[in-house]
Amino acid sequence: MLSTVPISSNKNHVIPRVLRLELPSQNAIPLLLDSPHSGTYYPEDFGYSLELAKLQQNEDNHVNELYGLAPQYGAALLEALFSRNYIDLNRAADDVDPEVVDAPYPGARPSPNSKLGRGLLWRLMSNGDAVYNRRLSVAEVKARIESYHRPYHQLLAQQLRRLHREFGQVWHINCHSMSSVSGAQSPDGKVGVERPDFVLGDHFGTSCEPAMTQFVHETLEKMGYTVDDNVPYKGAELTLAYSKPALGFHSLQIEINSKLYMNEETREKNAGFDKLRGNLTSLVTQLSRFVTSRVVKDVHAV
Ligand SMILES: [Zn+2]
Repeated sequence: MLSTVPISSNKNHVIPRVLRLELPSQNAIPLLLDSPHSGTYYPEDFGYSLELAKLQQNEDNHVNELYGLAPQYGAALLEALFSRNYIDLNRAADDVDPEVVDAPYPGARPSPNSKLGRGLLWRLMSNGDAVYNRRLSVAEVKARIESYHRPYHQLLAQQLRRLHREFGQVWHINCHSMSSVSGAQSPDGKVGVERPDFVLGDHFGTSCEPAMTQFVHETLEKMGYTVDDNVPYKGAELTLAYSKPALGFHSLQIEINSKLYMNEETREKNAGFDKLRGNLTSLVTQLSRFVTSRVVKDVHAV
């Protein structure tokens, strides 16, 4: 599987059932969006025991489509095609919950997410439902990492490095959606907390320059949305792994309240979808101006 990812790609790229990368056909800017949780493919060897419809409640459905016009405005768009329930791209490869495997996992470093049953391999849904009635073998976990987790991370890292090489800095938006209300296993601390329209996560000011978070925050507020920063979602592995603001690698997570664009039960788009998509396209065009102005300013400053 590793060999299917090009060493340095500047072309659109698809690994069937794993990922899809769309690059702008012209006027590229150093802005990359990634949607790790909107995939809906369930690999045959998943072996879950929960009802499929309940597992699907955990997907960030349609987020790829909400940002789907981004490449027309110069940004690259990477999306996962498989369900995050199979393996979660927004976790480190060693974030293995000891209770999900049938033997000690070599080099496991379970994070607090694993302790909530939502590590690299989710064991519990947000409402506490169990995903499996079995434990996974170490070989199974390693195969999921090699075939799904590693190619995505490798391609994301390559693209960020490529844009950084070309422009001197790169801005990365990690795109998600969240339930409108917290569940038992959510990080909110209690059940039933109503979420704002958007939550921006920059790991409390450490994964991107503060100006980026502020720009996105203000742009969304001007559109009439309620926006919080870092609570309850401060960002996770994808905004942590490749960010280094001091060296010009900026990553920001955006969580959208699902009820703005879909029926949270059926996961079907609702009447709000088109308006939200228009506003997110506008956010991308405004970000494109933000990014361009900073690249130009930095070139002049040298
Ligand atoms: Zn997500």
